[in-house]
This record gives sequence, C-alpha cells and structure tokens, in this order.
Amino acid sequence: MNKQTEQKRTSVYPVFTCDVCGEPIEIDEEGYIQIDLRDADNVKNMRRIAQDNRESRSLKLEGDTSLVDILTLSDLVDPSNQSAEWEAVHTKCDLDDEGNMYFFHTSDLRTFEEVLQVNSHVADKTWAEYTNWSHFLQRQLAPYDG
Ligand SMILES: [Zn+2]
Repeated sequence: MNKQTEQKRTSVYPVFTCDVCGEPIEIDEEGYIQIDLRDADNVKNMRRIAQDNRESRSLKLEGDTSLVDILTLSDLVDPSNQSAEWEAVHTKCDLDDEGNMYFFHTSDLRTFEEVLQVNSHVADKTWAEYTNWSHFLQRQLAPYDG
C-alpha cells in the first residue's frame, strides 16, 4: 500500500465557482471575475470621510467635551472593514450589466501561473486596497477545509 493515501484534494487547475448559481465555471463555459469600480470608489470615499470625521472630532473634543456624544454613520459601519467585492460569474448568469466593471475572462485564468500574473496586475491598481481581492482568491481557489 502507498503510504501517501491521505492525498489532499487540490485541483490541478484553478476553477472559479459562479457566485450567482453556485456551480463551477467549467473549462468549456464562458465566465469572468469582476469588480464594480464604483463600489471600490465608494469604499474609498467612505474611508476618507470616516478618517476626516475622526480627525475633526478629535480636534473638537480637545476644546469641548460635550461633543463626545456625536455619533456618525461612519462609526456604526466601520469602513475599514468594508470592501468592494469581487465576484465570479458565468456569462449566462450575469444579468446585471450596469456599473463600471473591471474584469478578467476565466479563459485567461486557466493555470495558477495565469492567476499569479493577474494577481500582480490587480495588486498594482490604486484601488486594489478597497476591494476584497486576496480574500476572494482565497475563498475561490484555496478554501479552508471544514
Ligand atoms: Zn452561474
């Protein structure tokens, strides 16, 4: 008997799973991974506003402690935890063609080498930090067991 019977179930090729129907985007199917850049922009603005609020409030608090009760929406929804979300979809499942989408065809993501190239490409974008890119890749391609 081969002692290495506990083989990890790691796929040889990256397979993205459609966030709409939950099925894998097979090699013979059209699909893409995409991000709405308007969402990334919104997150960027939310974080900046929250930062401005914190700074102006801490300035005010130095003079007047009665302002301590000021609560803004940005305190309730911590924008540092907010990200614009990437999604993988079959072309046939993507009914929403609104938005300013930035995308890669899954046909260009058939090997892990290609995923790494795309990864570097995305990481260089100024808006990358406002998206859940690395979490998306991990969830799609390297999900935790159990
Ligand atoms: Zn689908």
